[in-house]
Amino acid sequence: MRHKKAMFPLLAVICLFGATSCKNRTGISDNVTEIIAPDAPANFFDKPGEYLDWQSASMLNIVRQILLEYPPRVIEPQERQVAMVMLDAVFHDEGAPHRRSVQIFHHQQTSSVLKELENTEASKGMMIWKLYDMGVIIRTKSVTVAFDITRGYSSNSEAFALPDEMMDKLTDQCDLLFISHSHRDHADEVVAQMFLDKSKPVVAPPDVWEGKEIYDRITHLERKAHEVQQIWLENKDLELDVVVYPGHQGTNLLNNVVLVFTPDGYNVCHTGDQSNEDDFSWIDEVAEHHTVDVLVPNCWTPDPLRTATGYAPLFIIPAHENELGHSIDHRESYALNYSRWDVPYFKIIMTWGESFHFNPI
Ligand SMILES: [Zn+2]
Repeated sequence: MRHKKAMFPLLAVICLFGATSCKNRTGISDNVTEIIAPDAPANFFDKPGEYLDWQSASMLNIVRQILLEYPPRVIEPQERQVAMVMLDAVFHDEGAPHRRSVQIFHHQQTSSVLKELENTEASKGMMIWKLYDMGVIIRTKSVTVAFDITRGYSSNSEAFALPDEMMDKLTDQCDLLFISHSHRDHADEVVAQMFLDKSKPVVAPPDVWEGKEIYDRITHLERKAHEVQQIWLENKDLELDVVVYPGHQGTNLLNNVVLVFTPDGYNVCHTGDQSNEDDFSWIDEVAEHHTVDVLVPNCWTPDPLRTATGYAPLFIIPAHENELGHSIDHRESYALNYSRWDVPYFKIIMTWGESFHFNPI
C-alpha cells in the first residue's frame, strides 16, 4: 500500500483538459519539414500506384498541420478526430510501410520526439511521448523511462525503420528500457544493446533472447503481482521502484506488465501485449494496491472496461495502433479506440511523435 495516494483534486483533473503538447511550448515541431508530395500530373491514368503514393503524401501533409494545431488532449475537437481517421486510412493501405511518404512521416515524427527530449527538462509534471507501436517515453524531473521502443523493423520495411544513429541519440536521452515481451514490435536487440553499452538497465521477461550473448546483461526482475521491487540506475544514482506484473500474451507467452513509480510521484503502467483472461485475477486488484496515474494498454486487449476498472487510472493512452507489419485486419486503428475505450476514464489518443504534458499540480 506504500504508493497509494490521495485522489487528485478536482482542479488537477480539470487541468487535464487544458494540458498542452510540448510542441506548442517549444515551437520545435513547427520546423518539421513538409512531406514531399510529387507534383500531380493532369491525371494518373494507368498509374494507380503513383496515385496512391501522391494521395498518401497529400493526406499526411494535411494531417500533420491539423495535429500541430490540435495536439493531444482529453476532449478532442472534431478536426483532430478527422486527422486520426485519415492516418488510419493511410496506414491501412497494404503497402503503407513501403510508401516513401509513410517512411518520411515516421522518421520526421520520431525526429521531433528526439528534439523535444533534447530540449525538455520536465521540471513540472510528466512528459509523455508516443512512438511507433507501443514505444513510449516518459520523463519527470528525476528520470526518463523508455518502454518497448524499437527501430520499427517489425513493419517489414527497412526504409521505414529508424536509422541506428537516431535511435542511439534517443537512448542517450533515456535512463532505462523496459521490454514487455519477445516479439520484435516490442523487443529490438540493437536498441537494448545501446542501453547496455551506456550502463543503462534493460528489464525484460526471462525468455527474451535466451541463449544469446546479450542475455546475461538483461535484468530479470521477479514477475510478482503488486510487489514493489527496486532497480538501481547507475547513471542517475537513484533507485527506481517498480512492480512487474506476471502478464501473458495469449496462453503462454511471458509478457511483463510494468508499473513504474517515478520519484516525483507519477506512476505509469505499460501493459505490453497483455491478453490473457486468467491474468484478470491480479488485474482486477491493481487499484486496491497501487495508484496508477497513466495506463498505456495495448489498444486491442480483451475486455477494455474490465482492464480499465482494474487499474483505475487517472487517464488512459491506448497504444499499438497501426502496427504496419500486421495484416490490415489486425493492424488496429485509432478510430477503433473511440468505441473500444468508451470507458469511464479519461483517454488521450496519440500518434507517433506526439507528446502530452501531464501537469496536475
Ligand atoms: Zn505487439
